[in-house]
Amino acid sequence: MYTSGRKAAAAGSFHNFHMHGTWERFQICSKWVGAMAHDEPTKASGPNKLVVRNIGLLLSGDLRSPILDADTVVVLDGRIAAVGKEKDVDTAAATTTIDAKGTALAPGLIDSHVHPVAGDWTPRQNQLGWIDSCLHGGVTTMVSAGEVHTPGRPKDVVGLKAMAVFAQRAFTAFRPGGVRVYAGAPVIEHGMVEDDFKELAAAGVTILGEIGLGSVKDGKTARQMVSWARKYGIQSTIHTGGPSIPGSSLIDKDMVLETDADVIGHINGGHTALPDDQIVALCERSTRALEIVHNGNERAALLTLRTAKDLKKLGRVILGTDSPAGSGVQPLGILRMISLLSSVGDIPAEVAVCFATGNTAKIRNLDCGLVAPGRAANFVMMDRAQHSAGKDLLESIQLGDLPGIGMVIIDGAISTQRSRNTPPATTVPEVVKH
Ligand SMILES: [Zn+2]
Repeated sequence: MYTSGRKAAAAGSFHNFHMHGTWERFQICSKWVGAMAHDEPTKASGPNKLVVRNIGLLLSGDLRSPILDADTVVVLDGRIAAVGKEKDVDTAAATTTIDAKGTALAPGLIDSHVHPVAGDWTPRQNQLGWIDSCLHGGVTTMVSAGEVHTPGRPKDVVGLKAMAVFAQRAFTAFRPGGVRVYAGAPVIEHGMVEDDFKELAAAGVTILGEIGLGSVKDGKTARQMVSWARKYGIQSTIHTGGPSIPGSSLIDKDMVLETDADVIGHINGGHTALPDDQIVALCERSTRALEIVHNGNERAALLTLRTAKDLKKLGRVILGTDSPAGSGVQPLGILRMISLLSSVGDIPAEVAVCFATGNTAKIRNLDCGLVAPGRAANFVMMDRAQHSAGKDLLESIQLGDLPGIGMVIIDGAISTQRSRNTPPATTVPEVVKH
C-alpha cells in the first residue's frame, strides 16, 4: 500500500479506500483530493479495467427501456465501455472483476436537491459525515440547491458570488466517500445585473440556488435573472410552496410560472405544499422539471406523480431529499422516495429508479445516471432486503420495502461494499479479482 504517514493522515476521511490498500484506489482517491495531486506517482500499466459480471437484473436508468437484457458491464478508466451479455463483451485483462452473484445493478442515485455547506459537515442539524451516510443510501451524485445554511451567509452581490465560487471549487476538489457534489449555487438577490451572471458562469458556476430564499420574491425580477442565468448556461431551481423555515417565504404557482426556472424545486413543498389545484396547474402549464423531495408533503408527491403520469410526462419527474432540512438528513431518502412512489403511487420499481437516475441526469446535464457506454461508471448494486415479502428486488420495492445495497461504485472504483444504512441485502456482490 502506497501511503506516507502524511498522506494517510490527509486522506483519513477516505478510509473506505485505504482499507483495501490498493494502488488503484489510492490513485482514484487522490484524484478527489486536489492538494495531493502534485506528488502522485505515475502508474506504469495500461487502463484501469473493471468488469462486473453475473448481474441478475440490469436497470438502465432510461425510461424508454428501464430493464436491459444484459448481465455484464465493462468499465475503462471510470467510464462505461460496454454493456451486454458476457460472451459478447471484452472482459479480458480486467484489473478488477466483480461477481454480482445475480444481484441488480442500477446507475448510482442522484439527489437533485441538497444544501451542502462545507466539507462533510452541515450546521443545519450540526452533523458530520452526512454525505458519506447518503453514499450508503446509494447516492453517488448530489446537486446543490444553494449553500444557504452557511452561517453568516453573505447576501451582498460580491459576497454571494465569492461564496458560490468557493463552494464550486471546494466540492470539486473534495468528494466525501467519492460522492460528486455539484455545488456553488448562488441565491439571487436584488441588485444583481447581467454581468454578474456572465462573471459567475466564467468562473465555473453552473447552477443557481433556490430562487425565493433570497430577497428576490417577485416573478418579474426572478424571470429576468433566470433568463440572464440561462443565457450564460447557468441552470435555475425555484423554491415552491410555503416557507421551509423562519425567514423563507411562500412561492405560489403564479410566481413559479412567471419565473420559469428550469426546475420546479420541491413541487410537493418543503415541507408545506401548495393547494392541489396549483400543483396540477404547474404540471399542466409548465414544461419544466417536476422535482419531488423527501422533505416534502407525501400526499402532494403522489398527486404530482399521478398528474405527470396522466399527462404522459413522467420524464419530467426527478427526485431529491432537500437534506439537510428541518426533518434532518435522510441517508436513505432517495431510496425511500423510489419505494414510496412505486408502492403507493403504483409505478413499476424500474421506472421509479429512472426518476432518481436518467431523468435527473438528462435535466441536469450530468454525465452519469444511465448504464450506457460513455457514461460515468457510477453504480449501485442492490438486492431484496433479507426477509422482504417481495420475491425479488422489484417486487420488494413495489411492496414498499427498501432495497439492500451490496456495493456502490463511483467512477469505476468501489466506494463501499455492504451498506451500513440499508436493511441488509439478501445477496451481496463479491470482488473476485483485484
Ligand atoms: Zn426550498
